[in-house]
Amino acid sequence: MNFREELCAYGRKAVELGLVIGTSGNLSVRDGDRVAVTPSGAALDRLTPQMCPVVDVEGFLLEGELQPSSETPMHLAIYRTTDARAVVHTHSVFGTVVATTMTELPPVHYNALLLGGTVKVAEYATYGTPELAGNVREALAGKRAALMANHGGVTIGATLEQAFEATRLLEWLCEVYVRGLGVGSPAILSEEQLAAVVERALNPPEFPRR
Ligand SMILES: [Zn+2]
Repeated sequence: MNFREELCAYGRKAVELGLVIGTSGNLSVRDGDRVAVTPSGAALDRLTPQMCPVVDVEGFLLEGELQPSSETPMHLAIYRTTDARAVVHTHSVFGTVVATTMTELPPVHYNALLLGGTVKVAEYATYGTPELAGNVREALAGKRAALMANHGGVTIGATLEQAFEATRLLEWLCEVYVRGLGVGSPAILSEEQLAAVVERALNPPEFPRR
């Protein structure tokens, strides 16, 4: 599967899983100096590889008839400043709830470590602007995920599959937290508890053999 075909596959998946409604949300994947990105204004479950524009990291259009997603400047800012090879941005429900009501998603489950622990909410700025791209880059520092105030979420990965799974995890963590708040006061894991998880993951106990 080439990188434009991959975009179509994950675009369909994002819609099927309810992470994206209609044309909201955008995905990109980098191959060397070339970035394939979902087009502006197209339903993500109806993409063909030819519909997906290819740009360079400076934002010059290299291939494709359609305009790249309006959020492309944010994707490119991430590629220029991190080792990410893929970026997924959605307006998923629980991520957007957290992004409109809080300044961060605290670690209520140890799987938050897979995203870098606490997920920060980037300050609000108009969609598609360099200002928003800058705010997101700041919130993403050292992490695999960020939320965007009154907007949605963004995740990065070494592959599109990784970035996509990070988006699913981010949405799940936001849902657990939001639903938890409806039931009571969710306990937040301490630095010590999180450090113990890392320690455990690095040194898994071996089962003795008979
Ligand atoms: Zn958006």
